[in-house]
Amino acid sequence: MIRSTTMMPALLVPANDFTAQWRAIRDEALAAIDRVGERGWLVLGSEVKAFEEELAAWHGLPASVGTGNGLDALEIALRCHGVGPGDVVLTTPLTAFATTLAILRVGARPAFVDVDSAGLLDLDLVESALRSGTAAIKAVVPVHLFGHAMDVPRLRDLAQRYRVAMIEDCAQAIGARFDGQPVGSASRASATSFYPTKNLGCLGDGGAVFVADEETRARAATLRDYGQTAKYVHDIPGLNSRLDEVQAAVLRSALLPRLSAFTARRRQIAETYRAQIRHPAVRVPPVPAKSESVWHLFPVQLQVAARRDDFQAHLRNHGVASGVHYPVLTSSQRAAGHDVQRLTPLPRAEEFAQTEVSLPIHPFLDEEGVARVVAAVNTFEQR
Ligand SMILES: *Cc1c(COP(=O)(O)O)cnc(C)c1O
Repeated sequence: MIRSTTMMPALLVPANDFTAQWRAIRDEALAAIDRVGERGWLVLGSEVKAFEEELAAWHGLPASVGTGNGLDALEIALRCHGVGPGDVVLTTPLTAFATTLAILRVGARPAFVDVDSAGLLDLDLVESALRSGTAAIKAVVPVHLFGHAMDVPRLRDLAQRYRVAMIEDCAQAIGARFDGQPVGSASRASATSFYPTKNLGCLGDGGAVFVADEETRARAATLRDYGQTAKYVHDIPGLNSRLDEVQAAVLRSALLPRLSAFTARRRQIAETYRAQIRHPAVRVPPVPAKSESVWHLFPVQLQVAARRDDFQAHLRNHGVASGVHYPVLTSSQRAAGHDVQRLTPLPRAEEFAQTEVSLPIHPFLDEEGVARVVAAVNTFEQR
């Protein structure tokens, strides 16, 4: 039976507005698709090559390699660093499952430490784990969660000092910088995603590996294309994970040119929320000090976990969509396997899992919508 939606008021403030985005990009997007169609070259052609260069230049890194999605980009980045079967990879339990899944897919074993008060991998705990040496950690996968930039210079320093591979997950943080340094710049290969909800979302699936040098670029390009080093020459078993020409064309003609403006709007909305959300039961988590965040998500935390459902229902009754990032830690998912290692207890990550609510934040959210969200939050009934 199809559930009736008549009881639900229409959402005046959705979590995303892809129709509004389409109307904004339509002319350039249609022209881009037409360009590809007329050229008649649909896979790994000039659009992908040009987009890879333009993306890297916009983000502030040497080069990038387009992939089919963010999960594959992470897998390819891990393999570029030589991470493989049996290796232990330290990561955060508070992230999209794809972060952990990429580690599993290369045959490695995920290991976890807790997050900090902002919800990001706690680098003091990472450093203790690396220093003790007991877990034989081969690589670290930090996630620039919520669009915040983690401490990039410290990530670079940890990688060098403890001789571990550093593979940043930049899926939520394209364009974010820490003290001027772009996320991804602590890694020889890092990964991002163009899944539609992401800050640079395409019209379907897409992703990219950011690379620091030509050798790594060539390796990633080989891995995404069946492991081919030359036509019909396969020296390593690769993936089929190519960014389509159509997606690349739309990204470079219609979306990447708007990303600075989109990001500015997200930052404005975040400023307003941070200034105007005032409720004793709702806490806004801190932002890492030198993070120039791109606000993929706007997280708040309920003081009392048991009230989260009430809070989300209250928002919904005021026409405001909300989400939870993430209700279950990746370390607790059955697919993570039974030999996951928790190198520390995970109380802060558990607290986020139980209390976090994400408010709408996207480039097509107007002032009226922002005011509606603030009013809805601030009128949540106190108990
Ligand atoms: C979205 C996301 C991914 C995966 O990207 P896909 O393109 O959906 O495969 C990986 N890591 C994080 C943190 C994400 O948010």
